[in-house]
Amino acid sequence: MQQPLKVAVIGAGMSGLFLGYHLDRAGIPYTIFEKREAVGGTWHDNTYPGLHVDVITRSYEFPFARKNYWSKRYAPGSEIKRYLEDFAREQRISRNVRFGTEVTSARYDEGRWLVTTSAGDTGTFDVVVAATGFLHVPKRPTFPGVDTFAGASFHSSEWDHSVALEGKRIGVVGTGSSGIQIVSELGKQGHDVAHFIRTPQWIQVKENPPITRMEKLLLRVPQLGAYWDRKMARLRLQTDGSETWRLVPGAEREAMNRRFLRDLEQEIPDPELRAALTPKEPLGCKRIPKSPDYYRVVQRPNVRCVFGGVQHVVPEGIVGTDGTLHPLDVIVYATGFETHAYMRPMDVLGPDGATIDSLWADGVYSYRGIAVPQMPNFFLLNGPFAPVNSIAIPTCLRDEVGFLMKLLDRIATTGQALAPSAAATERFCEGIRQALPDTTYSLCDNWYTDQGGTPIIWPFTRQQHVDQYADADLADFEAFPVAARAAAPAGRPAVGGAS
Ligand code: NAP
Repeated sequence: MQQPLKVAVIGAGMSGLFLGYHLDRAGIPYTIFEKREAVGGTWHDNTYPGLHVDVITRSYEFPFARKNYWSKRYAPGSEIKRYLEDFAREQRISRNVRFGTEVTSARYDEGRWLVTTSAGDTGTFDVVVAATGFLHVPKRPTFPGVDTFAGASFHSSEWDHSVALEGKRIGVVGTGSSGIQIVSELGKQGHDVAHFIRTPQWIQVKENPPITRMEKLLLRVPQLGAYWDRKMARLRLQTDGSETWRLVPGAEREAMNRRFLRDLEQEIPDPELRAALTPKEPLGCKRIPKSPDYYRVVQRPNVRCVFGGVQHVVPEGIVGTDGTLHPLDVIVYATGFETHAYMRPMDVLGPDGATIDSLWADGVYSYRGIAVPQMPNFFLLNGPFAPVNSIAIPTCLRDEVGFLMKLLDRIATTGQALAPSAAATERFCEGIRQALPDTTYSLCDNWYTDQGGTPIIWPFTRQQHVDQYADADLADFEAFPVAARAAAPAGRPAVGGAS
């Protein structure tokens, strides 16, 4: 009789836990390999002061695991971390996690994947799912002299809490979501902060009110929760605009431009500072950081903006591009992530000598964000072209995991290994490339952009994301024979979709 599928999941962050929940429900045995000693992924790594989720927190919950214990509309990172830990424990997913174990390679061998870990052991799986996300490899600056700095320095995702900040001169490099949140918080706490701004960013001024005790109680009642969600959706529409302004040029995009300029004008009375903080790049080409108080904070006497890049680092601090030395005791590099690494540095070796590095040598791509040609039974969550900017991650996962479970069902019942054909993948990627020039994402270089200048991002709406999986044709997949497995026995429970 055929054995059930055995699945290796790489990463116990939000995606890996979401998938684990659905594998459990489908009765599919799995192991999650997690390089850290805890679940949570990026919400485990990032502990910097001021960290909070910047989409409405309830849309960041799994729809099948409501908690409603958020203290704020945009909850602090510590609460998201706790939510994921609670979820893993309560759903008993943690027992399937091998902590402190990094997958170093996956090699396709006669129809199965041989997974090798940092512990030096190997295991064999029918299916591998890389749920690594794209924010786990810090992008470290290579400024001349970076190692000569005499004080403490660290990347924003590796905050060194042993470093006391009181009385220290702190430099923060980077104006992405991380840098903006860090400067806002340290500045509010009264620290002496120099913010190094190579490229001024559009910043959305967004209040973050507490969720009252009464609201928390009301949210426990499903109908009232649904009412609150609708209210928040209306608010989001008012503040963030509809999802289409980033996708197509037109009146709404122009109105958003005017709104951001008006916010700058209202928040920064000093024309010189305002001019320096006004981005030269078009609105929405980079992911927009949100902060209720960044603009107010940079006008405090304890905070200063240093415009231009970093020329080099010396033991005493940072020398800016104009040659000025900025003496510092601590440097925080909020310089982002190697977002196109995905599961790497792990080696992935498919049949016939294909490797993920060779397939992606000219830039990353995928079939519908979840699969790569020539890699049978190897899947990704939130892979290349997933809507990681415009749609909350749990919502993306709902669509992706729903389709993945259908694929697993097909794999289980046919005994085959499946990979998307090169032609189907090219059709999908070409459809994306056609739509990208209209979007704001293509208007400047950002962390989505590949080496050829293509932003690797979903350029369509949420509904189109749902529809692409409903319309996906399993004929897009090529079957690779799997020697050791036969067809599923009658009566085996079907693998369901995501909820
Ligand atoms: P990021 O958006 O990639 O920003 C990196 C920043 O570092 C940019 O301002 C960049 O400047 C600057 N930088 C990089 N290398 C530099 C160099 N050599 N010299 C000077 N400046 C340099 O990174 P991030 O802020 O960590 O955010 C990454 C993503 O994480 C976000 O877009 C978001 O998806 C996620 N995130 C989410 C939240 C949340 O609240 N949900 C919070 C934090 C992060 P240039 O613009 O000039 O390149």
